[in-house]
Amino acid sequence: MENDREIIYGMEGKKVKGLPLDDLEKLMREWQKKLLMDNWKLDLKIVDFKRKNNYRQSGDFIADPDKKNASILMTWDPWRGDEEYTLVHEMLHVLVYDYDKYSEGLILGHYKKFEGEHDVYMDKLENLVHHLTRMLLGRSDR
Ligand SMILES: [Zn+2]
Repeated sequence: MENDREIIYGMEGKKVKGLPLDDLEKLMREWQKKLLMDNWKLDLKIVDFKRKNNYRQSGDFIADPDKKNASILMTWDPWRGDEEYTLVHEMLHVLVYDYDKYSEGLILGHYKKFEGEHDVYMDKLENLVHHLTRMLLGRSDR
């Protein structure tokens, strides 16, 4: 989602709520093993998300499926309290990103971004990632 968001990096020092960065990184390494993602180069960044519609975002990711590089982006100001949920959710997005990017590309050949069929696609993707995250963690974030 490049068009409707702004990511402010370097918020590591501002994170006082929730899990410390070290703990989040440790969790990421554990999940990297469980999700069989040892062939990925992952890092974790603490950021602030600015969105036009004031939608509060817990996490996001940037991934290059060809190079197997990805950054997991976590909010400096977690409010839901389940950062492990957010972490695993974003890692699963990375895992399916090659498929996601391909499918989304086909859809965007016919439909506008963030409208109609593209919205339907995004909802279906989120539902799948949400279900898989709940399945793996045995819990939900709400
Ligand atoms: Zn998601």
